Formats: sequence, structure tokens, C-alpha cells
Amino acid sequence: MLIAIDGPAGAGKSTVARAVADALGFTYLDSGAMYRCVALAELRGAQDPLSCPIELGGGQVTLDGEDVTAAIRTPEVSELASQVAARPEVRGHLVALQRAMIRDGDYVAEGRDIGTVVAPDAELKVFLTASPEERARRRAAQTGAEAARVMREQQGRDTRDATREHSPLEPASDALRFDTTGLSVDEVAQEIVRLAQAVR
Ligand code: C5P
Repeated sequence: MLIAIDGPAGAGKSTVARAVADALGFTYLDSGAMYRCVALAELRGAQDPLSCPIELGGGQVTLDGEDVTAAIRTPEVSELASQVAARPEVRGHLVALQRAMIRDGDYVAEGRDIGTVVAPDAELKVFLTASPEERARRRAAQTGAEAARVMREQQGRDTRDATREHSPLEPASDALRFDTTGLSVDEVAQEIVRLAQAVR
């Protein structure tokens, strides 16, 4: 079974997806971490960033054999990740890897295009949103950055993600939409677990 969780940055996708995966015993796939790895490889001057092996598992992200779990979370990588994600050759490569990963077993996959492109036949599709202010507040609380600055940078990336030509961020027509503003992770995760058990 596959549960697809898409939405903009700060909508609560990672925390909710992890909680749902834990509750159901599914594997969690963070597709954004893969775009971040390509961005980091590029920042580090890799000749061919797409050929650097990416591994996800056990809460760790590995690029070319190195643990980059923390290194891919810097503001610089966030900014470049949303730029490399607009390139069709990057998307084609990562979507193929993601499809291979989710082929066997039960997954909760999280990103921008899981329900629309990576796995249009996912058994359950969820699109999470939250107000821009709440999303910026959450990111600021996680990173210690100033909320106003986070909000400005977030708006730039949101616009790029939503208006890019290839796989723009948009809900699948059959996705269930949740506005997580003012809701706790547990409330949202429990509702998704309930829905997953109903369709299983
Ligand atoms: O989710 P996260 O913020 O880690 O993703 C980093 C960037 O990767 C996003 O800003 C987005 O541009 C891109 N992304 C994407 N498609 C996905 C996951 C992430 O375009 N499925």
C-alpha cells in the first residue's frame, strides 16, 4: 500500500508522514531529501550531480557514502533544491528512483508530486496545507531563524514550486485536502491512519 502526502513547505508533511508510517509500520520516503541531495552535490561542485548515489533509511540520508542528514537542511540547500527541482532531467531521474523504491512494500511517501506524478495510483492521497504565517512559524521554530525572513524565502520557493512547467505543486484531483493550521500533528496523523485502515 502507498500513502501519498503532498503539500507546500511547512504544511507539516514530514512530521505527519513519519507519525503515520510509525503507526502503520510502513516505510517513510522523504522525496524532498533527494532533491536536496542533488542540490548539495551541485553546491559541492560534483561533475555529474545526478550520478551521486543517494540512500535513505533509518532516519539518515547518505550522499555518495557520506551522512548528509544535517548538511541538506541549510537555507542554501533549501533554495538550490527548489531550483534544481524545476529541471526536467533532475525530476525524471529522481522520480524513476522513487518509483523503484516504493515498488515493494508499504510506504508513506511525502513530497510535491507523489499523488500526481510519482504514484498516481496511490491507494490514499493527502494534500496538506496551512496558512503561510503558520508554515513560516513552524519552520522558524525548527531552525531558529527569524519568522519574517523564513516567510519571505518560503514565498519565493512556493511560487517557484507552484508555477514551474514540470510537475508543479498541485493537489491530485482525488487527494483529500487537510488544512493543518491550528491542528496538532497527532490529530492529523490519526485521521490519516484511520482513512488508511478504511481503504486497506
Ligand atoms: O520537502 P523539502 O522542502 O525538503 O523539498 C525541497 C525542495 O524539493 C522543494 O522546495 C521542492 O522544490 C522540491 N521537491 C519537489 N518534489 C518533491 C519533493 C521536493 O519538487 N516530490
